[in-house]
Amino acid sequence: MVITTATATIDLSALVDNFTKIKSLAPESKVLAVLKANAYGHGLERIARSLPQADAFGVARIDEALALRADGIVKPIVLLEGFFEPQNLPVLAVNNLQTIVHNEQQLNAICNAQLDRPLKVWLKIDTGMHRLGIDARDFPRYYQQLSQSKNIQQPIILMSHLGCADDNNNADTDNQVRLFEQTIAGTNNECSLANSAAIINYPESHYQWIRPGLLLYGVSPLPEENETITVNPVMTLQSSVIAIRHISAGETVGYGATWKSDKATKIGVIAIGYGDGYPRHAENGTPILLNGRRVPLVGRVSMDMITVELGINSMDKVGDVATLWGNGLAVEEIARYSTTIPYELLCNITRRVQMTLK
Ligand SMILES: *Cc1c(COP(=O)(O)O)cnc(C)c1O
Repeated sequence: MVITTATATIDLSALVDNFTKIKSLAPESKVLAVLKANAYGHGLERIARSLPQADAFGVARIDEALALRADGIVKPIVLLEGFFEPQNLPVLAVNNLQTIVHNEQQLNAICNAQLDRPLKVWLKIDTGMHRLGIDARDFPRYYQQLSQSKNIQQPIILMSHLGCADDNNNADTDNQVRLFEQTIAGTNNECSLANSAAIINYPESHYQWIRPGLLLYGVSPLPEENETITVNPVMTLQSSVIAIRHISAGETVGYGATWKSDKATKIGVIAIGYGDGYPRHAENGTPILLNGRRVPLVGRVSMDMITVELGINSMDKVGDVATLWGNGLAVEEIARYSTTIPYELLCNITRRVQMTLK
């Protein structure tokens, strides 16, 4: 008997197909493929190596960028939150990392640094999300200082980020796009605004650089699955049945005895839990694919196990492989059952999960 423990199978051909589909939505734009958080849980280096078509990679932390360089990746890499301390600047210069500038501290640090070579920077403007970015009214001052600094490789790239792009008819998004347009008016620089949701919903936000993350991994960023683009899941998460139990009507399953059967049935125990990144808050009824059908999660998710109801006449056996999400079962759906978003489920996969390639 071979038992497969929690395993995430990564389908790199789906990744490449998804890239091609995204590109067809914005054929005029270059693609900055977003690889932060271990490429949304898919394996940073592996995903980077599989996307030679990308024009640049985006990460959130300098360590992620350095891991890519250590792996031999020579493509442009952009730090999407910029650098966090002035001491990072020589590291950026030596490793040819591009940085976003979104605050005064970063502006001053760059302009005052002694660098062996100039840095490529992306100036981030806050157009209404109020997370990162300079105030739009300060744009001329930043633009002028960066354009004149000997430490900056010209021309700079201008960007902002949309807070509500998953809603395809949203006044806040329209206002953000309008403010971005007004702010950059009169410049001739390359621009970037669109994440995955905006790539689908707001073609006017494509500009010269799109920044897809979730969509690359074959997951829809829209609230309900939207038919306008079909991408294929890159990750399929699976594990095995390790026990089959018979229970009677009125018996309970799991910690807290939160689920009680109203009939005699069989329970399957699957070797995956929140210690692997399966969401602890998945509700009773969350679907799991087993032997070609959906079976419902019952009882609480444990650290290493979950329990599903198989039905009294089921034929499932120990060793059968169950799919938690991926091919045949969208992670978007599991996210809805767990009151979270697919982003969180994907990047919460833990080190204990085996990673294999399809
Ligand atoms: C994470 C991120 C993206 C990608 O977002 P998705 O919704 O995954 O496409 C794009 N731009 C920035 C600045 C980001 O931080």
